[in-house]
Amino acid sequence: MQRTFVMLKPDVMNRGLIGKVVARFEDKGLKPVGMKMLRLDDETLKVHYAHLADKPFFPGIVEFMKRSPVVATVWEGKEAIEVGRKLCGVTNAREAAPGTIRGDYSMSIQANLVHASDSEEMARQEIARFFTDSELFGWESALVAYQYSKDEVE
Ligand code: ADP
Repeated sequence: MQRTFVMLKPDVMNRGLIGKVVARFEDKGLKPVGMKMLRLDDETLKVHYAHLADKPFFPGIVEFMKRSPVVATVWEGKEAIEVGRKLCGVTNAREAAPGTIRGDYSMSIQANLVHASDSEEMARQEIARFFTDSELFGWESALVAYQYSKDEVE
């Protein structure tokens, strides 16, 4: 099984959407293995969004992401990274497909509600950035036999 990192951004917090966004991941069948609130600082954001550091909109992202605490989550499932990205929808929420989190709840390219890891390497780095080992929980879901076939979980 694969793990992916998902962050609920300040627009989720301020709009009271934590429950609705978490429900998307639960409803799909991903298993929560880590969840906590935290405040992001400049250093963390510089690392987390390093690939955007030279973009003109970078200072705006930093200001936005520091406006309130965020919720950091880790989800586990088969191909969880790809599934997580699909649940979120494309970056520009105006273009995101209905049925996705961004497509259903956002009109913005910046305030697009969620961050989700985009590769195995990024998931590994992001989980380690935001969670200690003792904050991550391996546990057996009672539903697994009804969410997957036997050969899918072997
Ligand atoms: P994603 O979050 O879909 O993986 P990126 O890694 O490209 O997308 O961008 C990270 C975040 O930076 C986006 O989720 C969004 O909040 C913000 N962002 C990206 N592009 C823009 C832009 N053109 N203007 C403002 N904010 C942006």
